[in-house]
Amino acid sequence: MFQIGCHLSAAKGFLQMGREAISIKANTFQFFTRNPRGGNAKELDPRDVAEFLALAKANGIHQILAHAPYTLNACAANPSIRDFTHRTMLDDLARLESVPGNLYNFHPGSHVGQGTEKGIELIAETLNGVLSKSLRTTVLLETMSGKGSEVGRSFEELRAILDRVELSEKMGVCLDTCHVYDAGYDIVHDLDGVLARFDTIIGLNRLKAIHLNDSKNPFSSHKDRHELLGQGSLGMRTFERIINHPSLRHLPFYLETPNDLPGYGQEIATLKSLRQGDA
Ligand code: FE
Ligand code: FE
Ligand code: ZN
Repeated sequence: MFQIGCHLSAAKGFLQMGREAISIKANTFQFFTRNPRGGNAKELDPRDVAEFLALAKANGIHQILAHAPYTLNACAANPSIRDFTHRTMLDDLARLESVPGNLYNFHPGSHVGQGTEKGIELIAETLNGVLSKSLRTTVLLETMSGKGSEVGRSFEELRAILDRVELSEKMGVCLDTCHVYDAGYDIVHDLDGVLARFDTIIGLNRLKAIHLNDSKNPFSSHKDRHELLGQGSLGMRTFERIINHPSLRHLPFYLETPNDLPGYGQEIATLKSLRQGDA
């Protein structure tokens, strides 16, 4: 089954996101757990959650992806920012237990001059403080483009974080196509080679989700500016290969292109027309 969806606004709750996904023929979606630039989360409405779960079940929506806000930095130099990150992640994960069995993705962080090694250490420390055995959500590290002092620009850095996490069975990776291309992994000309490296260094069994974005910038630019599919430096042929690749086709795919709901609907229709076997 082709699991395809896009980023949706969580402002009106879970039921609304479910309805929007269905309206564009998506069977999954991503959302921010709270304002991406702010701190406070909306109070969870148990009725909204229950109605969403019923709608999701009836319509085959599953494996939704919650995205942590951008204000988090698990490896900040400032301890109060790390503390804020810890509390926010704990709160997000507690809330996600009301929609169990899904995914929680976050940007590993920026080491802000402390160095990559220190960054990796602090990110693992944060994760060890928020993960617990009873957790029913899988926590994903996102592959980053390497702008500024971002950690997670290489598969080796992500592997180094995973190696330091005690409950690493709760962890996975979300591969963002724009980010890895901007980071210097040539998925346009050598998708098989990049996936082989991912498998050797991290293990493809850790890969749990794909962010499908074209890039406004050239290869290895370390920029992170998303473009509409087929209108950037990756090109539609690359996305066709990705959604059909034997190592990737079982994964959920999420669009984070600069789009509105009808635009996402068109991209999803295009991807379905390019999907082989079970579109
Ligand atoms: Fe992200
Ligand atoms: Fe992303
Ligand atoms: Zn991005």
